[in-house]
Amino acid sequence: MPNSKHIIIVGAGPGGLCAGMLLSHRGFKVSIFDKNHVVGGRNRAIRMDGYTFDTGPTFLLMKGVLDEMFELCGRRSEDYLEFMRLDPMYRLVYEDSELMVSSDRDKMNAELKRVFSEGEEGYDRFISNERNRFNRLYPCITRDYSSLSSFLSWDLIRALPWLALPKSVFSNLGQYFNQEKMRLAFSFQSKYLGMSPWDCPALFTMLPYLEHDYGIYHVVGGLNRISAAMAEVIKESGGSVHTDSPVQSLIIENDSVKGVKLVSGEEVRSDEVIVNADFAHAMTHLVEPGQLRKYDHEQLAKREYSCSTFMLYLGLDKVYDIPHHSIVFAKDYHTNISNIFSNKKLSEDFSFYVQNASVSDASLAPAGKSTLYVLVPMPNNDSGLDWSSHCEKVREQVLDMLGARLGLTDIREHIECEKIITPETWESDEHIYKGAPGSGLPTIYESARISSNLISRKHRITFKDIKQSTWLKKAEV
Ligand SMILES: Cc1cc2nc3c(=O)[nH]c(=O)nc-3n(C[C@H](O)[C@H](O)[C@H](O)COP(=O)(O)OP(=O)(O)OC[C@H]3O[C@@H](n4cnc5c(N)ncnc54)[C@H](O)[C@@H]3O)c2cc1C
Repeated sequence: MPNSKHIIIVGAGPGGLCAGMLLSHRGFKVSIFDKNHVVGGRNRAIRMDGYTFDTGPTFLLMKGVLDEMFELCGRRSEDYLEFMRLDPMYRLVYEDSELMVSSDRDKMNAELKRVFSEGEEGYDRFISNERNRFNRLYPCITRDYSSLSSFLSWDLIRALPWLALPKSVFSNLGQYFNQEKMRLAFSFQSKYLGMSPWDCPALFTMLPYLEHDYGIYHVVGGLNRISAAMAEVIKESGGSVHTDSPVQSLIIENDSVKGVKLVSGEEVRSDEVIVNADFAHAMTHLVEPGQLRKYDHEQLAKREYSCSTFMLYLGLDKVYDIPHHSIVFAKDYHTNISNIFSNKKLSEDFSFYVQNASVSDASLAPAGKSTLYVLVPMPNNDSGLDWSSHCEKVREQVLDMLGARLGLTDIREHIECEKIITPETWESDEHIYKGAPGSGLPTIYESARISSNLISRKHRITFKDIKQSTWLKKAEV
């Protein structure tokens, strides 16, 4: 049933779109404004000369969460998107060996036995113990903490022993695996959060666990299709998505946000405003200093931010025989991590990730050609590095590394088109504060659900929620 309340959402990234989809389905009048020409934010498509790339996300984890968001809107994700579960999930490339990582437990046990001298002994324990931890923690991730009483919930109290404070992911893995390389295979995922495995809190061992127990997915056409599908649902439910519509500032009266002023000069008022633009960016660019007392600009600048990335998107007139996802570890992983997170400087030898998605999805490149997406973790813009002077050298280093570590020695001869994003351009063009890449899609969808539920309750709009996620696997005895 339509209601008279108007919700403005600043930003058509996955978070804004997911909230827009839920709220428009509940009858709110939803208007989304995005500065870009297309929807999706970091999850949008880059299209060049017949090649399609995902800008950011390439791993869909916890597909069940995405399915649930569509279900909450009375829809099936499969009616909008074609999913492919990847097996193997990815290849890990060490200096002296390689590991094909699978979410098929028999295959994974056999592979660990093949590659590591300590074998597969800890693997089943890892899955069953981390499944217990995840099942306890998941209900806590999906609730809002806007009131003090929410911290006293039974779910949270029961989950406390599973937080494993103050351990890191790397040390937590010591209970299952001994060899450093073995632990790396289950801890590099901390970088998805822009963190080092030695600093990332142990509860985030849920990331490798989720990959191994639930698998990872590709979406035909790229993960950008998810954002496009969400925009479609919003329009079907009567909402509007305005692209090429940058917001200049929030309209704030009495410490409360009343609407937005667009760069075009137009002012639009609403009952609620959801800010989906990168939070620290929005608080420092859409709000005058001191206007919202809670979010002081200087305090925001002093906080710690995740790492950034150097991106190289290559359209190639050749198809290389490398897996859909490859992760290559720096020969000296520790030094590379210190350079990214502590020293905030460039590394001569670095870890990197390569997506060669056209091997499983022919829709991404013309016949006989391919797309290559290369992501190199880098210090965020606290580094003070001048990327206009480093960009070309890093590009050359990346192309050399593709040759040296993955055997793509002739790659320079096959580049038909390319695009680069540096930590600096993440900030200047993509509006990401300090160029820090952000968390993953499932947490973004969950926070969209939390925000939508808070708004719905405030305006006394009844809605369907899913109390017990059906996709959660049962604990192993
Ligand atoms: C390189 C990279 C790789 C990643 N890989 C993965 C992965 O494999 N799997 C995964 O789950 N996650 C991944 N992520 C994380 C994922 O991209 C983010 O968690 C997600 O995009 C965040 O969504 P969001 O909606 O909060 O923000 P965004 O995607 O940044 O969307 C914010 C939107 O706000 C808009 N906006 C900003 N300022 C304004 C303004 N003034 N007016 C109007 N609009 C504005 C922007 O244009 C943008 O569309 C990756 C991120 C990066 C950078």
